[in-house]
Amino acid sequence: MRYRRLGNTDLIVSELAFGASPLGSVFGAVDEQDAIDAVRTALDAGINLFDVAPYYGATTAEARLGRALHGVARDSYLLATKVGRYGAADFDFSARRVRRSVTESLTRLGTDHLDLVQCHDIEFGSPDRIVEETLPALRGLQDEGLVRHVGITGYPLPLLGHVAQRTRVDTVLSYCQYTLHDRRLAAWTDHFAACGTGVVNAAPLAMGALTRRGAPGWHPGSAELLARCAAAADLCEAAGSDLATLALQFSVRAPGAATTVVGTGSAEEVRRNVGRLAEAIDEELLARVEACLAPVRDQGWTSGRTAGRPAQVRS
Ligand code: NAD
Repeated sequence: MRYRRLGNTDLIVSELAFGASPLGSVFGAVDEQDAIDAVRTALDAGINLFDVAPYYGATTAEARLGRALHGVARDSYLLATKVGRYGAADFDFSARRVRRSVTESLTRLGTDHLDLVQCHDIEFGSPDRIVEETLPALRGLQDEGLVRHVGITGYPLPLLGHVAQRTRVDTVLSYCQYTLHDRRLAAWTDHFAACGTGVVNAAPLAMGALTRRGAPGWHPGSAELLARCAAAADLCEAAGSDLATLALQFSVRAPGAATTVVGTGSAEEVRRNVGRLAEAIDEELLARVEACLAPVRDQGWTSGRTAGRPAQVRS
């Protein structure tokens, strides 16, 4: 496992990070023991960054991660969680809720500090409020020693770039935009570097779309996109390979990103993913899969509200 500094923070993170949303059973039921085994296997494999949120499984993922980490030396792992999103349509970016949210996360995660707290899916809030209220509230908690670093997450890169330029943001988490079918993050990493903002590349398997099992029912991708991903999975299988392998090996090469966060809900998945890091990518298969996905290259989806957002950040 390789490690890199996350932007200008003092966090040295493993190149592969543990995405804990599956612990909240968002991709299908995951039982408690499997969740614990996945986390312990990740630690043993050298993964030191765990990304979670109150939203995942309505606090279940945080509570399970906390139980899985119970008794593990606190300085051997880094915890990143989020504030602002609490349900599919339940957002609250107020300073008051930020404080309560962080306090609750600390309890669920069984710790006295969080290494990174990110405003979750900022496209569902107003950029002015994120800059003037939410991030300052997190800075206040940083002054109190409860939070070490402060970041933002979301889907529309122009908005993430806009907020990082307007105010100091330690990290940005972008998802599904450095994958086999989407490269848009690559155009933004210089911008984030210039802002002094570290980049976290999340969802290398396009939230399950780039796996044999395929995307969950709630996936926002178009039918055409998901059909192309399914065709790519067939193509890999016919070649005696596996689309998730290729997708992960490709995504961890994201230029300018310190780490790639893959969602994992079992020890077996963790072992498979870590094992793949050391293997060379099959360039010939990659070229064939890229050709298969070319018609949907960079075809994303819309996320968040547009009202109240400055014209220059509408994508
Ligand atoms: P992902 O692309 O990492 O895919 C996860 C899915 O792939 C899960 O169903 C998992 O079981 C499966 N999987 C993992 N390894 C596999 C393998 N080797 N073979 C087959 N299937 C495999 O999507 P994700 O979990 O949504 O994203 C990763 C993490 O990034 C999340 O858990 C979360 O921590 C973070 N994230 C944050 C945001 C945000 O802040 N808005 C959005 C997306 C993701």
